[in-house]
Amino acid sequence: MAPTILHAVILQATSRSMIFRKCAECTNKIIGVAQNVELRSAGVLYYCPECDKDVDKYKANYDLQLIVSVSNGQKIQQAVVYDEGVSRLLGCSADKLCELLLESPALLDEIEEKLIGLRCHLVTRQEKKKKGKKPSNNVVIVDAIIPADPRFRPVFVENEEET
Ligand SMILES: [Zn+2]
Repeated sequence: MAPTILHAVILQATSRSMIFRKCAECTNKIIGVAQNVELRSAGVLYYCPECDKDVDKYKANYDLQLIVSVSNGQKIQQAVVYDEGVSRLLGCSADKLCELLLESPALLDEIEEKLIGLRCHLVTRQEKKKKGKKPSNNVVIVDAIIPADPRFRPVFVENEEET
């Protein structure tokens, strides 16, 4: 199916839950279980149910849930953006962001502030219907978020750019 472009304004972006951590060994989802300041994972200890052990090494991906207002507020739409789309928008991979968060945990809030209210073009596609699976509630999958304002700068380049 051909991609559809939606002109939208982002109403809600849950940046706090947009990082998805997977076990570096088996690539299954890991869960945060306890605080431990010694670990690189920002003090959180992770447990892999598949390997049945605590893990300190993981691979991170983005999975950003959005609520957007499409076409001048005529329609409210739920959307999801996966790893590539978010990486490109933020100019930063999920693994890199995990590292940055160790230094500045407030980054997620900054990202959220930046995203909410953002006018953008969403390159979307329909989720393929899987047999036997309940179709998700009209959530569109967004391949790319293109800010309508060409002056938009992701949170991360700002610090590196010369002023
Ligand atoms: Zn594992």
